[in-house]
Amino acid sequence: MIKRRKTRVVKVGSVKIGSSAPVVIQSMTKVPTVDVARCVRQIKQLVRAGCRLVRVAVPRRADTTAFAKIVRKVDVPLIADVHFSPDRAVEAIEAGAAKVRLNPGNIKNRKDIIRIIDAARMHKTAIRIGVNEASIRDLKKEPVPLRKRTALMLREMKRYVRLFESRDFTSLVLSAKSSEVVRTIEINRGIADTFDYPIHLGLTHAGLPEDARMPSAIAMGTLLAEGIGDTIRVSAAGNPVEEAEIAKQILTALGLYERSSVELIVCPTCARTGIDVIKLARRVEKAVRRIDKPLRIAVMGCVVNGPGEAADADLAICAAKNKGYIYRHGRKISVVPENEIIPAMLKELQKM
Ligand code: SF4
Repeated sequence: MIKRRKTRVVKVGSVKIGSSAPVVIQSMTKVPTVDVARCVRQIKQLVRAGCRLVRVAVPRRADTTAFAKIVRKVDVPLIADVHFSPDRAVEAIEAGAAKVRLNPGNIKNRKDIIRIIDAARMHKTAIRIGVNEASIRDLKKEPVPLRKRTALMLREMKRYVRLFESRDFTSLVLSAKSSEVVRTIEINRGIADTFDYPIHLGLTHAGLPEDARMPSAIAMGTLLAEGIGDTIRVSAAGNPVEEAEIAKQILTALGLYERSSVELIVCPTCARTGIDVIKLARRVEKAVRRIDKPLRIAVMGCVVNGPGEAADADLAICAAKNKGYIYRHGRKISVVPENEIIPAMLKELQKM
């Protein structure tokens, strides 16, 4: 069991973030915000994929107007993503944002930041202070050596948190992002050591989904295993539903996601493999896709090591030449010819 870091608990609409509250998956819409119907459709897809918060960018006045309509059409709390414009932040808060994602570094005027804080307090809106490596570079207007970036990001975060706290505002979630795995780990450890606010984890510009998967899993997985991280977003250039899927896989691997579907375990296969395990696993995956129970099914390639390796599964199929042994909770219950493996497995699942 992973021991989560003790933090303050921040409410984002109906969702609690921090301490022992489940790690929240979030993603971001990728259609124009002014296209309300498409935006709502994508938000609903993301909720179905496991997101409990969804972020929407509001760069123009027309977007905050659309945002107000979108808020009324969905059940999930929405986060307004704001850059540069204090007006957009205040408009989004007034439109019903449950949280605003803000990089105070790109809102130059202190008075403007205070205006946003006061509006957020009045509307009970949480704020995520987001610092990223690129904005640190912009702030310095000169190249910042790699070894100094983490310290600079932490210094900036301290400055912003002090400003929010000076206005008695503590509904904060903190995030510091880099596109580098090691710096992401380093800066988030620093934030976890310095503050007791919940942390949002992410790796910026992680790449196409197939390229984003591994660095995101390493960066976020390392931190989550240390108990650091209360919400996560996988950034990938593609369908945001894929982002949610990857996030879910990371959390599932760490035992931080309560599954409501079948978990399929497949042996890597070796020279002992009795039948085409991959083909069988694909058929099993297709057959159990719609089952909404947190069951663990194992498809193993032999009866030598298979039963031992699948002992923790609710149901296991261990293949031998032209046949399959079916195990339920580690106990052998039948032997069937290869072409009857799937029907026999489904029959057992029905009993379960
Ligand atoms: S279960 Fe059997 S076939 Fe599969 S990897 Fe292990 S030893 Fe090889």
